[in-house]
Amino acid sequence: MSSHRTPLGLAAALAVALSATLLPAVPAGAAVGIENTSHSQIAAVLAVPSAQRGITRDPSSTQVFVNKNYPLKPSRFAPKTTAVSKSGVRLQPQAASAFTKMAKAAARDGVRIVPVSGYRSYARQAELFARYTKLYGKSYASRISAVPGTSEHQTGLAIDVGNANSACGLQECFARTPVGQWVAKHGSKFGFIIRYPKGQEAVTGYAYEPWHLRYLGTATAKSYKSSGAASLEAYYGVAGAKRPGGGISTAPGTATTTANLNLRSGAGTGHKVLMTIPKGKSVKLTGAKSSGWYKVSYASRTGWVSGTYLRNISLPKSSAPKAAKSAKTTANLNLRSGAGTGHRILVTIPKGKKVAITGARKSGWYPVKYAGISGWASATYLR
Ligand SMILES: [Zn+2]
Repeated sequence: MSSHRTPLGLAAALAVALSATLLPAVPAGAAVGIENTSHSQIAAVLAVPSAQRGITRDPSSTQVFVNKNYPLKPSRFAPKTTAVSKSGVRLQPQAASAFTKMAKAAARDGVRIVPVSGYRSYARQAELFARYTKLYGKSYASRISAVPGTSEHQTGLAIDVGNANSACGLQECFARTPVGQWVAKHGSKFGFIIRYPKGQEAVTGYAYEPWHLRYLGTATAKSYKSSGAASLEAYYGVAGAKRPGGGISTAPGTATTTANLNLRSGAGTGHKVLMTIPKGKSVKLTGAKSSGWYKVSYASRTGWVSGTYLRNISLPKSSAPKAAKSAKTTANLNLRSGAGTGHRILVTIPKGKKVAITGARKSGWYPVKYAGISGWASATYLR
């Protein structure tokens, strides 16, 4: 047991100052050459798929799926909440008791998980959003703060966590702190997942948030983790940018079976077994996915297998989200000779200008072309 007092006030202050999904740092939107790439959620263009595969939108369910394209219904939904570990942070009772169990298990490993921010009401989120809209306009406000009704924190099933010493509070480096490492490794055993994984901004709509945990219950959290899905969107098959023709790609990827595995006629154990694929075999992925099940081909038969018994899953390339071909600057933005603020400024692109994206994103920067000049610009101020 530590004799130090938990600096909850400090953690909360950090939350207020740093979290894009909570209270973002005040952006100097009008300043020239802003290149603050951290803590900002990316205004992703998310395509709503024609069919929703197995997601639940019932806000009273612990499985409720929420993102920018799937707002809470009703938008003013308010769950029953209870205080987490005697803190000012509140969660739905089930999530709160799971959190307490998790915190106790972590404590046995010498790791102290501090609750930083949990349930936030529609009214609280609306108040924040209105304040930022007034200051910066709606388009910028929606990049730095969740539109009311679309925040996972409103479900009472999401919690931001910190270390007792506030190390790397609400920053990417949190992933390397004791709490960051512990929750990534063990969170699913208690029903929690890292909801906004690294490199999935285009899919989840949020930059990497290793501190933001979503409660899904142990069954779903474990299934999600063992599926190897890159995001919850991918797990449920609602992820991805628009594909040409709108269909699911059939380009081949592969995976390896980790057990003798039933190939079934549908995505679920209720479907007929077509054959049993031996352990250690390579199967072809068709690119289709549903609730942790993958559509695969093996020995010239096609069917569905549970992602739990697949490893080295490499989905077909064409099912990965594609980068937009053009973007607009949301602030006066420096075009640089390389991907980083250490590189020379070639030109400052005025706010609201259209630029061409000429290649793949690299560490939060895009190669862009503006007024005939090619260089790199921070993704934070492109949308
Ligand atoms: Zn959060």
